[in-house]
Amino acid sequence: MADDWTPPSGDLMKGKRGIVMGVANQNSIAWGIARQLAAQGAEIAFTYQGENLERRVRPLVESIGMDFMIPADVTDDASMDAAFDAVKDKWGKIDFLVHSIAFAGKDELQGSMVANTTREGFRRAMDISVYSFIDCARRASEIMPDGGAMICMTYLGAERTVPSYNVMGVAKAALEAATRYAARDLGPQGIRVNAISAGAMRTLSLAGIRGGKSLMGTGRDWSLLKEDTRMEGVAGAALYLLSDLGHSVAGEVHHVDAGFHVVGVPDLPED
Ligand code: NAD
Repeated sequence: MADDWTPPSGDLMKGKRGIVMGVANQNSIAWGIARQLAAQGAEIAFTYQGENLERRVRPLVESIGMDFMIPADVTDDASMDAAFDAVKDKWGKIDFLVHSIAFAGKDELQGSMVANTTREGFRRAMDISVYSFIDCARRASEIMPDGGAMICMTYLGAERTVPSYNVMGVAKAALEAATRYAARDLGPQGIRVNAISAGAMRTLSLAGIRGGKSLMGTGRDWSLLKEDTRMEGVAGAALYLLSDLGHSVAGEVHHVDAGFHVVGVPDLPED
């Protein structure tokens, strides 16, 4: 299970404030990252997609003693203006941003990428999963006068073909490129921008992909460590990249997938 670990506590994020975008439930990668950052002393503003999610997200946020929650739909400029204004009004400035948001329609996440990608589906996947990060990077950088750090979440389907991942693989490739360009633009302001490429994990997003469970199984069986990608590893990488431990790291796509990404051929049966 995603939630059966206790994040190590400490002071690595003490005095730092930031925004975590993309908690939908207790299995969300954003929630694992938020728990880890909070256990190291961070103060967090949580954005959630809409009223329906608030009911699920509020008890989680309150369980770690926090209450700063703001609705934000990344496709709606007015909603994004209001969310970042709320953070600016309350804190003035921030130190970090976690972008853990993606979407593509179920029809697109199956079968043939060539056959199933519509113009509207492509536009929506790119808008929600890629443009939103560029938009957030701009908005967040405007309230990071003392520098800071940002991360987004990606997957191996950006670099290699993965069945059913289809248009989302295309979007993740663009997201990884956007990470490098944002890192280039914001580096001179002392803002480090990086991406974490996580192995397949059991979340709502994975459930939207045809064969998602098998992606997890293959990820485990082919991996170097022969284990599922664990939330504590992803959250630990986020802590490293967002805290001062991550000094000098920018424009990086850091894999947390039990080594799956380096495998060209899986273990062979004995001859
Ligand atoms: P999740 O479903 O818990 O999180 C996805 C989030 O995106 C949800 O909170 C949802 O509300 C949000 N979202 C979608 N459309 C939005 C919109 N218009 N406005 C605001 N928010 C919106 O699933 P997750 O697996 O935790 O996904 C988080 C990130 O991690 C995504 O970028 C995903 O592609 C990436 N990722 C997931 C895996 C995996 O196997 N689960 C692996 C690698 C990368």
